[in-house]
Amino acid sequence: VPELPEVETNASNLARWAVGRRVVAVEPPPGVRETGGVSRRAFVARLRGRRILAVRRRGKWILVALEGRAGLGLHLGMTGKIACVAPGAELPRFSRAVFELDDGRRVAFVDSRRFGRLLAVPRFAELESRKEIRQVGPDALSELTVAGLGAALAGTKRSVKEAIMDQRLVAGVGNLYATEALWRARIHPATPARRVAADARRLRALHVGILAALRQGLAVYQGVDVPEYLEEGAPNPFFAYDRVGLRCRRCRLSLVAALVIGGRTSAYCPTCQPAPG
Ligand SMILES: [Zn+2]
Repeated sequence: VPELPEVETNASNLARWAVGRRVVAVEPPPGVRETGGVSRRAFVARLRGRRILAVRRRGKWILVALEGRAGLGLHLGMTGKIACVAPGAELPRFSRAVFELDDGRRVAFVDSRRFGRLLAVPRFAELESRKEIRQVGPDALSELTVAGLGAALAGTKRSVKEAIMDQRLVAGVGNLYATEALWRARIHPATPARRVAADARRLRALHVGILAALRQGLAVYQGVDVPEYLEEGAPNPFFAYDRVGLRCRRCRLSLVAALVIGGRTSAYCPTCQPAPG
């Protein structure tokens, strides 16, 4: 599932391929599920013929500004990816929307499970005022401070794992990077968020852990044109995520264990991350 490093990689690739180029043809998504209710005809009309001016990331959203103040918001959902296809080459399987650029290349939104979203709007500002984008909290990589993280954790009764995965509190962190950040910070995932907020040393360790985990993720995708997600069989470079039953890479004593928190599997080391007493 794409989290901040995967979305950032897709966004920066899209910027490299498309900024400054004009969209000469649009193959819209198959249904209104992906477009938030916008018809195929309106989707095409809002984007075709316009030059792409800028690509930004806001949490897990990719926001594209086009000529004439139009906008396109992309959410990769569970399996979404953005690919660039050379003229004459075959489109990847599960291409749901295709944008042909004025240099002959095509940008494809590829999404096997169809939880992705493509919101085409006549005014870019409408994107940022939409509820699902407006609610996005401080960006985990570029905006999150120790004090901000502390305030977010102090204001919830949930576990620290659930709190840092809440996009309204910390934008961009999902199950993979939350698991990694907590392992790095030596904090048990079920620890009440408030208890971490009240402990300056652990709070700082968590902030460092979030940044380090995200930066490791970004490094994994450096120079990669289309990120391949761990769930789809890519090699596992991480410390706790998807390593249940394997020996902890830090203490070499315990096997990584699993616990379900908020409906998601949380991998952790029972030695490095002792249960909250
Ligand atoms: Zn350990």
